[in-house]
Amino acid sequence: MNTDSAAHRGAGREPHPFAGPRPTTDGPVRRTLLRTALTGAAALGTGLAAARPATAATPTRSAPPRPGTPDEAWRELAAGNRRWCTYRERHPHETPAVRRTLTTAQHPFAVVLGCIDSRVPPELVFDQGLGDLMTVRTAGEVLDEAVLGSVAYGVLELGIPLVVVLGHQSCGAVRAAVEAEESGGHLPAHIQYLADQISPAIDHGEEGDARIDATVDANVRLVRSKLVAEPDLAARITTGRLGIVGARYELTDQRVHRLA
Ligand SMILES: [Zn+2]
Repeated sequence: MNTDSAAHRGAGREPHPFAGPRPTTDGPVRRTLLRTALTGAAALGTGLAAARPATAATPTRSAPPRPGTPDEAWRELAAGNRRWCTYRERHPHETPAVRRTLTTAQHPFAVVLGCIDSRVPPELVFDQGLGDLMTVRTAGEVLDEAVLGSVAYGVLELGIPLVVVLGHQSCGAVRAAVEAEESGGHLPAHIQYLADQISPAIDHGEEGDARIDATVDANVRLVRSKLVAEPDLAARITTGRLGIVGARYELTDQRVHRLA
């Protein structure tokens, strides 16, 4: 633990920069009510601003604005990952003041669809805190209806401008899918579903560990392509309000890099 981090945690007065009023105009009443209900605000019909406690009304002048565009959101994640992989984490937005602010609203700036792997928790590898990321995690970033609905909720209802599909080095789900195909065996329980979803991404130009490694990348691209093809998401991409990027985390140096 470095001194910056210790000071940051101990301050206890950190305002959350992304918990104030949304930078854009509110959507239809239905969306406001849905957002209110799902974020736990008690005062239905009064709007999020009215429901906030007075102590959390306004971000301080020094607080940075919430990333509002896909590029801004990615830059924030990239900066956090640079801190993480150089052991200069800030562990932002964890203080008692932040927790109080977040009792009535949330305005995360990115959805991260990552793997369940215990070595790749999005909030840590991007050095983000409470209220910053909406995370969805399934083995091998596999999609199903619940995952698609979760991503759509973040984008359409919360107005999140960036979705990151985050694969990683040495993914066990990808390895299982590759080995199941090579052996012709059937995986137990619902694990076969995961393998079936990853299967179209299996790289047949490589062998052994290189095949698994190449399939990690191909699987990220496959998942991203499925998300991009979702009509409601595609409409936002077209107008520049949403970016969907593929990325990969390396266990060896803890860096995240985008996949073209
Ligand atoms: Zn994995």
